Amino acid sequence: MPRTEPLVARMREFGTTIFAEMTALATRTGSVNLGQGFPDTDGPPSMLDAACAAIRAGINQYPPGPGMPALRAAIARQRTERYGLDYDPDGEVLVTVGATEAVAASLLALCGPGDEVVVFEPYYDSYAASIALAGAVRRPVTLRPDVDGRFTFDPADLRAAVGPRTRALLVNTPHNPTGTVFTRDELAAIAQVCVDADVIAITDEVYEYLTFDDATHIPLATYPGMRERTVSISSAGKTFSVTGWKIGWVCAPVALRGAVQAVKQFTTFTANGALQLAVAHALDNEMPWVEGNRAALQTKRDRLAAGLRGGGFGVHLPAGTYFVQADVRPLGIDDAAGYAWALPERVGVAAIPTEVFYDDKAAGRPFVRFAFCKRDEVIDDAVRRLTSAPG
Ligand code: PMP
Ligand code: GLN
Repeated sequence: MPRTEPLVARMREFGTTIFAEMTALATRTGSVNLGQGFPDTDGPPSMLDAACAAIRAGINQYPPGPGMPALRAAIARQRTERYGLDYDPDGEVLVTVGATEAVAASLLALCGPGDEVVVFEPYYDSYAASIALAGAVRRPVTLRPDVDGRFTFDPADLRAAVGPRTRALLVNTPHNPTGTVFTRDELAAIAQVCVDADVIAITDEVYEYLTFDDATHIPLATYPGMRERTVSISSAGKTFSVTGWKIGWVCAPVALRGAVQAVKQFTTFTANGALQLAVAHALDNEMPWVEGNRAALQTKRDRLAAGLRGGGFGVHLPAGTYFVQADVRPLGIDDAAGYAWALPERVGVAAIPTEVFYDDKAAGRPFVRFAFCKRDEVIDDAVRRLTSAPG
């Protein structure tokens, strides 16, 4: 046994991810799990059939490192058709093991010790860990609710966070966990900062299809001067309700994509081939299913929001993703993290304390994140439990 703590110092602050911890607590207590974000129904049947058929057809050995050609071509078609962004499937698209690997490989490839990465907080937890793995330093810009309860940033804060050591800006929109979908103006401000400071943008767009009402997702790469400096990341998990498949991708100009692949080839080399073919099929054929799922999620959002409001929570209605932020202060509570940790034992519902995604803990202190990517009866059960034992 090593004489000292075996885990390298730069990883010690991270412990076990909140998602694993909360799902374990939900299971142990028999709680309704509105914590970790995963749907409780399957994706499009033809995609599931395509996966099974591919396995039966013998697609079971190592696929090419950059990804199956059929999937790279389908991803390139999707970016062109939806956003007017053209990427060469052979040199500018890379398939990864989920968006998680895409983010990690991008940070490891592009950032070194002492480099700074500007990131909006609350941030998805793997960002902080991947920045630390690269030996880089995170510079958070805090999103706060405006008068309408929409989480946004002060452009002056963003400009102040960027300095001579800034290497990259990591942007997630639609944003987990706040549900904010950055507007045209917000994205223009972000793009301007990237161009002025000559930094790389890494964009996490995994919720690109999950937007509500009149919100639409606009990739940062569509802004002037941005395509050449942006690593755009997405994944099949949210779009097709297959979070366990871990098929993600990167679209970026040749040099950036090549850098990411240089790392990715040694982290996993390649991602599951049969599932890649099934995702290619879904990108080409199942967009009507995606639109139906999006519309259903909007109704679920409203269902959970109404239930939470009825239970006395302050509700921040998300414009995208499948998460809602609830403010516990109207319940007479000021420590939402303590509340969230006690909730499974007390009422049988699991949720995520938003504070864990902030460096500025005070900014996140009032909020709990609930997931609504669940069957209606599951949402109703959670609301019943929450409202039968408020506060
Ligand atoms: N980024 C964000 C913002 C996410 O919410 C998630 C997962 N929910 C991921 C990345 C990870 O995606 P994947 O499962 O494709 O690795
Ligand atoms: N992205 C999912 C969420 O935010 C969880 C992913 C995970 O478990 N790592 O809930």
